[in-house]
Amino acid sequence: MSKKRVLITGAAGFLGSHLCDRFVKEGFHVIGMDNLITGDLRNIEHLFKLEQFEFYHHDVSKFIHVPGELHYILHFASPASPIDYLKIPIQTLKVGSLGTHNCLGLAKAKGARILVASTSEIYGDPLVHPQNEEYWGNVNPVGPRGVYDEAKRFQEAMTMAYHTFHGVQTRIVRIFNTYGPRMRLNDGRALPAFIGQALRGEDLTVFGDGSQTRSFCFVDDLIEGIYRLLMSDYHLPVNVGNPDEISLKDFAEEIITLTNTTQKIVYKPLPVDDPKQRQPDISRAKEILGWSPKVSRKDGLKVTYEYFKSLPEEEWFKQPK
Ligand code: NAD
Repeated sequence: MSKKRVLITGAAGFLGSHLCDRFVKEGFHVIGMDNLITGDLRNIEHLFKLEQFEFYHHDVSKFIHVPGELHYILHFASPASPIDYLKIPIQTLKVGSLGTHNCLGLAKAKGARILVASTSEIYGDPLVHPQNEEYWGNVNPVGPRGVYDEAKRFQEAMTMAYHTFHGVQTRIVRIFNTYGPRMRLNDGRALPAFIGQALRGEDLTVFGDGSQTRSFCFVDDLIEGIYRLLMSDYHLPVNVGNPDEISLKDFAEEIITLTNTTQKIVYKPLPVDDPKQRQPDISRAKEILGWSPKVSRKDGLKVTYEYFKSLPEEEWFKQPK
């Protein structure tokens, strides 16, 4: 029997590359697509020798053509860290809107099932805690983060419209902060920023007083949740993340212990619209997918630290693209 064919957009990025690995492992024919605006081919170079993998260098905000059958599409192309989407705001809005439209059109044309990557950022600076999928969010559309948050909100609306109006099989995953190997050290997010500072022998920078909280999910757990959601018959949004919440101050201290550094924590002013707390309510994922995270922060951080440490030293000092 011929292999099922899956298109993964954002394939050269952090999450996209792990998805490529998972679908290759499951025996799919994987078509990766990426314009490399924030991604890196080194994340998927190990797949190039495989017959069951092919790669298209393409901007998904432009018309997408994929010859042959397609059974599944996972739309993960989008800048994802504030440092990226603040630098390329228009591309971020375009890939969330036009890029999603192109992927949905392709899904409709091919009769493929599509899963789109949404985000906890659609909850903005949340007024309910923890956030469940019924919460509509508290987003500032004209604030600096609006380009990402609103693109993702539009993405969800467009995906639901294709489901109800065209009968396309759609899935929406709301991803909470995820970490693991192949993240970029300089992507501006707290976890790689702290580890990068520890590796370079710098003090760790905490913004605000460090009381703001985050919950970090290890990438293997996330990929399992996404795989289960894609294979489920559930079309409403599902939160996937790790509810184990920690303040950024405590987290910085964990990193200091993990990396065994003698650096201290320094405090800087909080950026505009930085969410004060973030914690997924994962009751829906537990009930519908039988999923919950398995990897503790201690274990996940160890693997991630080893990965960063194994990079050539010049990577530790590299400035953002
Ligand atoms: P990433 O930057 O590592 O990967 C994104 C990939 O998309 C990159 O390889 C980039 O080159 C590619 N891309 C961007 N615009 C494109 C375009 N127009 N055409 C083709 N390719 C394009 O980011 P990531 O952390 O892997 O995030 C992947 C997806 O998951 C994004 O949609 C993001 O919004 C979502 N997400 C991630 C997290 C997280 O914690 N990492 C949390 C919530 C949501």
